[in-house]
Amino acid sequence: MALGVVSRFADHLQHFTPAYYEVKGVTGVWHNALPYAIPMISVFGDNRLSKAHPEWVQIGPDGERATRASRYFDWDAICPSHDATFDQGLNWVAEAVRQSGSGTVRLDDVTYAREGFCQCQTCQTKSQDAGMTLNAFRIQRLVDFVRQAHLIAPHLHMTLFPDPFPGHLQRRFGVDPDRLAHDVEAFVVPIYDLHYATTYWLEILAEAFLELIPGRYYIELYGLQVPEEALLHACQVAQAYCDGVIVAYENHLPKLQRIEERLALDS
Ligand SMILES: [Zn+2]
Repeated sequence: MALGVVSRFADHLQHFTPAYYEVKGVTGVWHNALPYAIPMISVFGDNRLSKAHPEWVQIGPDGERATRASRYFDWDAICPSHDATFDQGLNWVAEAVRQSGSGTVRLDDVTYAREGFCQCQTCQTKSQDAGMTLNAFRIQRLVDFVRQAHLIAPHLHMTLFPDPFPGHLQRRFGVDPDRLAHDVEAFVVPIYDLHYATTYWLEILAEAFLELIPGRYYIELYGLQVPEEALLHACQVAQAYCDGVIVAYENHLPKLQRIEERLALDS
């Protein structure tokens, strides 16, 4: 099985498949796409846009705003229900396709922030106009976004939040893998830890997503400063359940290459 990476280092990307390069992360800064890499876009996570357009920030129960100031969030979540954020997301996909010269793009943060989000005025008005519950509206909105992104990028990968409990992706995040499967070529599930000192929980999640995800499925592990033997072991556990293992943010190329060699021997 091939090892994939998420990397900021151009010289790492050509060695691994798939190789993802973040053209836009949650900070909102754009980095031009690189050859040999799949551009990855944080679509509805954007600290810069939330500052420029506070009216786009997702709103939860009791008016709680989905920003870093809240207890729940590490970045600011903007609401996919606005036409402007929806169109901006599609423009980023188009720009990534144009710059990379390939038709593959990974969608990150195509999601509502968590349960109860978003209840902004736009979400309420649009769901009522459509005669849908808020939950049904959210799911439909993200299906529509991914479908339109697929018209621009022929090959889509998409990140899922690592919550495989039945119904949680739909109810908490407005994400329905079964309804997205037609447009998504591979789902990527980040299962991060800083040590991977134990892996039983990783195995539980890995197997649960194998049952849940229709089609191709990658597990993404966190790599930076994780001890090499522990990371290798986590990769070995993960690869038994998925179609590919991805290591994110490791900055040491020989470590990644040694792990890849050991995984190849196992498979
Ligand atoms: Zn909203």
